[in-house]
Amino acid sequence: MFPGMERFTGSFTQQEPIPEAGIAAAMDILRHGRLHRYNTAPDEIAQTALLEQEFAAFTGARYCLAVASGGYAMATALRALQVGPGEAVLTNAFTLAPVPGAIASIGARPVFIETTPDLTIDFAHLESMALSTGARVLMLSHMRGHLCDMDRLMALCDRLGVKVIEDCAHTMGAAWNGVPSGRHGVIGCYSTQTYKHMNSGEGGLLVTDDADLAARSVLLSGSYMLYPRHRAAPPPEVFEGLRLDIPNISGRMDNLRAAILRPQIALLPDRAARWLALYRAVEQGLEQTNGLRLIPRPDAEQFVPSSFQFTLPGWEPARVAALIARCAARGVELKWFGAPDPVAFTSRYDHWHYAAPRPLPQTDAVLAGLIDMRLPLTFTPADAAMIARIIRAEVLSLRQGEISPVAALPLGD
Ligand SMILES: *Cc1c(COP(=O)(O)O)cnc(C)c1O
Repeated sequence: MFPGMERFTGSFTQQEPIPEAGIAAAMDILRHGRLHRYNTAPDEIAQTALLEQEFAAFTGARYCLAVASGGYAMATALRALQVGPGEAVLTNAFTLAPVPGAIASIGARPVFIETTPDLTIDFAHLESMALSTGARVLMLSHMRGHLCDMDRLMALCDRLGVKVIEDCAHTMGAAWNGVPSGRHGVIGCYSTQTYKHMNSGEGGLLVTDDADLAARSVLLSGSYMLYPRHRAAPPPEVFEGLRLDIPNISGRMDNLRAAILRPQIALLPDRAARWLALYRAVEQGLEQTNGLRLIPRPDAEQFVPSSFQFTLPGWEPARVAALIARCAARGVELKWFGAPDPVAFTSRYDHWHYAAPRPLPQTDAVLAGLIDMRLPLTFTPADAAMIARIIRAEVLSLRQGEISPVAALPLGD
């Protein structure tokens, strides 16, 4: 590093604190001790039931269930759709490990679909794999917040007779053509893990308009015979024919987490606007950088970018690794989806051996040059602009010339 070179000192993993209203509500719960969602005083409505009601209203869904994690919500959605052992479930090749993990957790078989250069699912490959496997469910992962053309996707899946579960871990509050993410398919699944749009440490939410799927999900989550205490679930008669046939696979959310989350729903629009400002600052700073490709965002897509992606088309691995190392030395933490081995949270489809993945050349070509960066809300737009300047300078200097012999290993988090 040369003297006078900019160095960023912020933390890429530091989220905002829990709002004071959430802290106060959590303290109340700790003081009275009724953490379990079905442990309520007479006339008390559990925080978890209130959260479900409020999140249903936020998304416009008829029903909502709060659970222990996003991965649990996805597995529950598959079980509610009665996906069985050995059954093929279509899913994005570009996604995070909990997505194929949820499919494998019920003994089903993930079938990975190719990724376009714009990081969304490839429709032609989706159609051919749906036809060749006979799969009846697509677990659609809006990975890193990139929405495919949801109108075309739903038309294609309707034509193929494929039901869509949406993995909205990165699209809470996002929309396609005004329709909220999670409301296109039969079920939408969300995560409230610390790195997502609302933070309760761990947690998940599931929304649907389908009364049968909602009742099955509630029973699966471990409602015993206490489902009438829910406020965003179908009426008891829907449960009548199901309650003795559905196993209890405990994965409920507790009142402490729900209390922390409830005040965060109202903050989502403001958070979305601040994330977009950070995203646009990075994007603007990286425009017209030779050798670096930005991901186009369609007008129909209203996105909530808690992270930023770009690709380095045609770069050889050593040069990408050198870029990661040089940016890290200047305080900018990048992740690389082309690394030969999984690092921290970053792994890719061919690392998931249990799913017996077939090679996907188009996805391989995209992931080989795909760089990913978190954008926590503790950053300011000025921080984002500085980060972009650092990346741009290192890309331009590395694009030509010798790769410096410094140890060039990608850093995880
Ligand atoms: C985080 C995440 C999930 C699941 O979240 P958990 O709550 O950690 O189980 C699902 N899909 C994607 C793409 C994610 O990033």
